[in-house]
Amino acid sequence: MNFNFDISTKIRIENVSGFREYLEMIKNHKVLLILSKTMEERFQLSDCIKIFEKENKCNRILKVSPNPTEKDIKNVLDTVDVKFDLVVAIGGGSAIDLAKGAIALSYCIGENYSEESILESIVNKEYLKYKNVIEFVAVPTTAGTGSEVTKWGTIWQGDHTKKLSVEADWLAPTSAVIIPEVTVKMPIRLTLSSGLDALSHATESYWSKKSNPISRELSKSAIRLIKEYLPKVIKEPDQYEYREKMCYGSLFAGLAFANTRTTACHSISYPLTMKHGVEHGFACAVTLTEVMKYNQKEIIEYDELLKAFGMSNIDEIKNWIDMQCSGIQELRLSAFGVDKKDIEDVVQNTFTTGRMDNNPVDLSIEDVRDILIKVK
Ligand SMILES: [Zn+2]
Repeated sequence: MNFNFDISTKIRIENVSGFREYLEMIKNHKVLLILSKTMEERFQLSDCIKIFEKENKCNRILKVSPNPTEKDIKNVLDTVDVKFDLVVAIGGGSAIDLAKGAIALSYCIGENYSEESILESIVNKEYLKYKNVIEFVAVPTTAGTGSEVTKWGTIWQGDHTKKLSVEADWLAPTSAVIIPEVTVKMPIRLTLSSGLDALSHATESYWSKKSNPISRELSKSAIRLIKEYLPKVIKEPDQYEYREKMCYGSLFAGLAFANTRTTACHSISYPLTMKHGVEHGFACAVTLTEVMKYNQKEIIEYDELLKAFGMSNIDEIKNWIDMQCSGIQELRLSAFGVDKKDIEDVVQNTFTTGRMDNNPVDLSIEDVRDILIKVK
């Protein structure tokens, strides 16, 4: 079997004080810093930011909305008053994806831009005419996104009608800085949803059409870690060791799907998030075991996948996922306010190129409808 396994992002495991020292070192750069107020407090970055601002070399974006749109990218570009040469994004998938959107658009957008022209540039992939020279440091603060090692970022159309993306080899972060310490304060609901996102990345990557021996080993390691440590971290969220293990689980899953992409569960998740506000991790995990039933016969080394979960069949995996969600969020569509009458519209919006056609089994509209009715 011939295959490529590419990773251009440097990975660093760090602690908060080491990261603050790094920020001190880059104060002569023209920095675009994307982070939320909560993250500024969690990293105790106020002093660093003041130094940056005194030198008039830092633009900071403190408000990061979940699921960034063309409007959020415009907001970043409006705020930027110094042409930046270094971007530091600290946050979950939304902060890192927003940074990718801003980097891509900073090249191709002229002086007079609008939300419409930004949207057009994304759809027509105008940024691909350029080559990035901006250094990009991604610091994930949830253990789940994987965006710190992928070359694509999800951008949502502001009127909630479409999921878009920016994608280029040069949009993969130059460095990913993993700081387990900052995930210790993560709320339980976010811990669960981002952990389930990472589990979906690992599992979908395992059965993806593009999976290969390296990605499958990474997937299995990620699944073993998440299976062991997600219950522990939910029970004892302050335990550093458990948080650290979840960060590795998320990173291994990220490295796996950065090379293979995700499949049907992510494709089905997009309209659930876009139209019904279901958090990304729950929106992916809700169909994971039903999609697994469809895929089962086509999964390479299927027994190895079950072994990584430490289970003997798909029902046991489903029970285990439900057990983790118990008392936090029931994992059924109706529990997220998605009614039976909404399902048809969701079904019609589930086919995303690059995801659904990467599933090992070709799912029809009827199959997707059947999957969604089973988890309604
Ligand atoms: Zn995901």
